[in-house]
Formats: sequence, C-alpha cells, structure tokens
Amino acid sequence: MNQSDITPTFSIPYTKTGMTAQGFYDKCMALASNLWWSWHPEVINMFRSLDPIRWRHLGHNPIALLQEFTPERLEHRISELVLHTRIDQSYRRMNEYLNSRPLWAKKNAGVLGSQPVAYFSLEFGVHESVPIYSGGLGVLSGDHIKSASGLGVPLVAIGLFYDQGYFKQHLDMSGWQQEEYLDTMVEFLPLEPALDQAGNKITISVDTQTGRIYAKVRLMKVGRVNLYLLDTDLEENSPEDRELTSRLYGGNNRTRIRQELVSGVGGVKALKALGITPGVYHLNEGHNAFATLEVIRERMHEDGKSFEDALRETAQRTVFTTHTPVPAGHDRFDSGLMEEHLGPLRDQLGISHEQLMGLGRVEPYNPDETFCMTVLGLKLSRYANAVSSLHGDVSRRMWAHLWPHRTEEEIPIGHITNGVHIPSWMSWQMKTLFERYLGQNWTQESIDPNEWLDVHNIDPGELWETHNALKTMLITFARRRVSRQCRRRGEADEVIEQTRNLLDPQILTIGFGRRFATYKRATMLLDDINRLDRICNNPEKPVQFIFSGKAHPADHPGKEYIQQIANLRQDPRFANRIVFIEDYDINVARHLVQGVDVWLNNPRRPHEASGTSGMKAVLNGALNFSILDGWWAEAYDGTNGFAIGKGTTHVDDNVTDRRDAASLFDVLEHQVVPLYYKVDEHGLPVDWIRRMMFSFSTLAWRFSAHRMVADYVHHAYLPAAGGVSCEMPMH
Ligand SMILES: *Cc1c(COP(=O)(O)O)cnc(C)c1O
Repeated sequence: MNQSDITPTFSIPYTKTGMTAQGFYDKCMALASNLWWSWHPEVINMFRSLDPIRWRHLGHNPIALLQEFTPERLEHRISELVLHTRIDQSYRRMNEYLNSRPLWAKKNAGVLGSQPVAYFSLEFGVHESVPIYSGGLGVLSGDHIKSASGLGVPLVAIGLFYDQGYFKQHLDMSGWQQEEYLDTMVEFLPLEPALDQAGNKITISVDTQTGRIYAKVRLMKVGRVNLYLLDTDLEENSPEDRELTSRLYGGNNRTRIRQELVSGVGGVKALKALGITPGVYHLNEGHNAFATLEVIRERMHEDGKSFEDALRETAQRTVFTTHTPVPAGHDRFDSGLMEEHLGPLRDQLGISHEQLMGLGRVEPYNPDETFCMTVLGLKLSRYANAVSSLHGDVSRRMWAHLWPHRTEEEIPIGHITNGVHIPSWMSWQMKTLFERYLGQNWTQESIDPNEWLDVHNIDPGELWETHNALKTMLITFARRRVSRQCRRRGEADEVIEQTRNLLDPQILTIGFGRRFATYKRATMLLDDINRLDRICNNPEKPVQFIFSGKAHPADHPGKEYIQQIANLRQDPRFANRIVFIEDYDINVARHLVQGVDVWLNNPRRPHEASGTSGMKAVLNGALNFSILDGWWAEAYDGTNGFAIGKGTTHVDDNVTDRRDAASLFDVLEHQVVPLYYKVDEHGLPVDWIRRMMFSFSTLAWRFSAHRMVADYVHHAYLPAAGGVSCEMPMH
C-alpha cells in the first residue's frame, strides 16, 4: 500500500479565515501554473465549475479566471460547490506526479539521465489558452512533450514566445477570411522567468553583422517537462527586434531567418546559461537547424575540437524530423541573408562563406543554390526521420540526390509515425466508459496493444449513447459559435434566430477541420453539387457537414476555398446541412473530433506527411474516411474506417482529383451512409459500432504519442546518446 492509499481524504473543518481561503487560492493557482491540468478532466471541470460562463469567455484560461476572484470569494464559491476535497486531491496528485519518475523511463531511458534530450520546435500547441502554435506541427510538439512527461523521458523543450501568436480568423459578409492579431495577456499565462543556477534571470544574445539581438528566456511547465521560450521583447533591442518574436510565421524571409537564428542558436545558448547539458538534440522540422552550428562552436571552443571533429560529434547527437513532402515547403535563405545573420558565428567556426553555404546545399559548390534548412538538418544529423511510412518513401526519393552514390533504399531517412496524446484528445466521457469496462487499471497511457483489445467487451448500446451525448454537445457548440459569428457580422435577427436550430443531432455528421492549404482539397465535395444535394437531403438517410480551418494569410486560393464552403449557407439546399466554424484552434478541434460520426480527410496524395486529426477522432469513436495518404495509408485495414481511392495517383493532378472525388462520392453513398443508417431491432447501428470498436482496438495505441515518443527513445535518442542502438524503421 502506498502513501496515497492511507492518506485520509476528508478535509479539516474550514473556518472562513483569510488563512484557509488563501491556502486554497494558492493551491488553485499552483494547479493553474503547470499545464499538467490541461490533460486532467477532473481539474478542468473543477475550474469550469467555478464560473462556467467566464471560463468560456476567458478562453479556458484558469489563471485569468482565478484573477477574477479574491481569495475570500473563491473560498465562498468552493464551499458552495463542496470542492475542497477535489482541490486537495488534485493538488496532491499533481505533486505526486511531478515528484515521481515512471517505471517506463527507469527501464528504458536511463542512459539519458542527467543529459536530457533538447527538443526544438518553432511552435508548441499545448492548450488553446496558450496561443503559441498555428496548426498540426505545433500540436504535435505539444503532444510530444506531454507524452515525454508521461513516460518520464528526460527532455527539455525550446521554442519562441509569441505575444501575439497566430491570427484569429473571422469571415466577413462575403465569406472572405479576415485576420486579426490580438495581444496575448502575458500575465495570465503560466510563465515564469527562467533562472540560471545562481537564481538570476537569463538574457542571451545572438550576433549578426548588423547588430546584436537579445532575448529573455521564459519557462512554461508542462507536467515534468520544462518548456523554455525565448522572447525578444526587451528594451535592449531595436523596436524592430522587440517585435521579432511577436507573431508566428509573420513578416518576410528576413524576419524568418532572424526568428530561426534566435530559436536555434539562441536556444543552445539558453540551455548553456541554464546549466543544462543536453545529450541529444532533436530538431522538430528544419526551422531550428541553426542550433547545430552553435553546438559545433561550443565543442570547438570548449573542447578544442577541430571543425570537422566537432561537426561529426554534433551530428552523432542530433535527431532531425522532417515534416514537409513538398519541395516549396522548406525554408530557404539567400547568400546575403545568410552572411548577414550567420557571419559572426561562421567566423568563430573558422569556415568560409562558401563552406557554410555548402552545408545547406545539395550541391555544395553550386553558387545558384540557396541555403535550405532541411538540407542542413539532414547533413548535420545522424538520425533523420519522416513522420509516416509513406512519407519516409517520399522523403528518401525527394532527398536522394543528397547521397548520389546510394540507392533509394539506402538513403538514411527512416520514419517514426506521428501520434497524439490520448489524455488530451479523448473525451472524459469516453474515458469514463472505458474505465468502467476495462477496469480502473486500464490506462489511456498504455502502449500495450493487448490492453486495447478488451474494447470489444464494451456494451454497444452504451458506447453509442456516449458517442451521441458527445455529438449533441458538438451541435450545441456549433450553434453557439455560428450564432456568434452571425452577430459579429451584424446579420438580421431572424438569421441569428435560425442558428438555434442549426444541424440535427439525429443525422450522420461528417467533420472536416484542418488548415485550408489547397492540397488538402477542402472543396472536393463541391465537385458535384447536385450529388452533394442528394446526399445531404436524402429524406431517409440525410448527411450534414461541419467544416473549420484557417488559410495562411498569404494563401489566396486557400481563402477562396473557405469562401466557397462558408457561402453554402446562402444556398437553401445546404443552409442547414453544411456549416463553417470560424477560428479553428485546439478548442474547436477538440469539439469536432469528439463529436462527429465521421472524420473526412481528402488530401492530394502524397502531400499529407502524416496528419494527426484523424487519430484524435479515433479516440472518440469517429470513423476515419480518408485518402490513403499519410498515417491512414498504414492504418487502414478494411475494418477500421473507410478509404477514398486506392492509394494511387495519376501524373496529371486533374485526373487524380477527379478520380478521388468520384471515389469519395461512391464510398460515401454506397458504404458510409448505408452502414450508418442500418440499425437492428433495438435501433442500434451494430455494424457501425463494430467498426468503431475495430478502430479503437487497432489504431488507438498505435497512433498514440506515447508510442511515438517510445519509438524516438529506442530508435533515435538512445543511439544518439551513445546507448543501445536499434535500427530506425525504413519500410
Ligand atoms: C490536430 C490539429 C491539427 C492537425 O490536423 P491535421 O489533420 O494533421 O491537418 C491542426 N490544427 C489543430 C488546431 C489541431 O488540433
């Protein structure tokens, strides 16, 4: 029996003295100050219950919420709701979590010990209340560090702090995307200054030929993982540089290289100042690859190594993950920008400008080639990986010319398929149901496939009921959001009134939420508008769609796609069948993946490196209906969802698009819809529910971030740290 089993859970009598009130206020604040709370439904529900309306208005930010209470008023509210025990328990659970090291890490990651993995990413999507992410890459980084925390992998994370984050989206009357950047209320974020070993605040600087850029270092706690965020908003900087880190992917290529200089080179310097000696450097995407150059400089400067030796040693410790299957998606900088920003570091490395440029070129001496961050990442890492099996093939082909003497199979890029953090994405309603049938010992954190097999024991009726409760919540959410969108646009009262009855909880609901990049082909369903009408308005078997997603501010065609979909609300055939929810973020994503029946994904193969939103849908019982691209190409087995197309592409994109659209309509009409509406004598769609169970049992553990991080540990981190080596999967 451990300590927690014998600690009494009753609470001492509470007097209304300031002391007790302050004590509970402090405990709530402590809970709010580590993002551990964001994947613990009992803590989220506790915060929400304090004031549900304000909770929503404040964007689910517990620090902002608590700031609205005095300790006395909070104590009053806690007494009213009888929350004392729950707060005590949550507080104790968090501290037990933070002060323990999981068995998994003791067994599997011992070598990393005091030399942690340094995980670099330009965005981190941990929770909607901390807007320092734009989309999939950020959410992946967030999920990665949460699972590293869960497994106990020694890891610190490094990124940038953006005080305006990414834009907020709303649509004007014509359905055109408007972008708005809002200042984040920094004092309401769970941030503290990062301190060096003497307890002083840290400021680092990076030299360019045109001046020095300073950055302070902020610390955000994500469970057991420390996330260090560099912020250039300092008086020492020029006005231009103070704003350098204010927006994610803002500005031009010069802003971009300066951001990447600060996060990469500055990130390594920050670790040094913190007294952290990483054993492994993990570059999540090419953005941070300048970090390797600073590590080389450290090795030369501190250990007296030659440039070549330092380079070899750095590469041995570097893991590089590429996410972009399209050549245009990779950062490239011209010779002038490189010299301006890397010149001083290059001098310290003792190499020529051409040598430096060569590190980012496929043909090192080709003066016409710009400097590519992905090439730098590939050249300076011994462990490079793509993010799905298919993306591995694509990446090896794409970068084959970097290794002219090797065959495609010998190109040293493996793959580790992405995964999602189950506790963050599985609804607590589903989790509760699972615990009831699989036992209290069942844990969402399990990467043991056998533990998920028992899903088939869950009562189909209860599973269906739970799913439908979540679907009703999604529809309530959609109505509220669409109503708000109409009010903001100043629509007529009758229009706003109609949003109360928008959508129908009884009918097959298909969700589509992601970035509106054109390769994701969000408008494919509009290819045959009459057929779509017949499908949506079939009197016995109707179908409805919920769309959401942002287009990059410079992506005009992407915005046109949004406009086409949003404006369907003016077409009486679709007004009540197809809705667009503005401002896709983690909150909207969570509602969608938890409430829809089907998750649709129809990118142009093979452009989707992995995709992760479909994995989130799996955890809540939604069935994937997707092109065989990214993760779905390796996940679909004929029983656990639906496939669009046969996993082939024509050289002519137009032909591919037409074929895929035809398949989408056929599968929808002939497989998805009939299966959903085929019910037994109790009104249950038993075949559909069986498919939901196959989806859970075959996919949930495989595409979990715990499995992903475990793979990184075995195939990359341990060998890079000089531990046991284990081949990266290549095929
Ligand atoms: C999961 C997620 C994504 C990534 O979705 P994909 O299907 O991989 O494109 C993007 N944005 C948000 C807010 C997400 O939660």
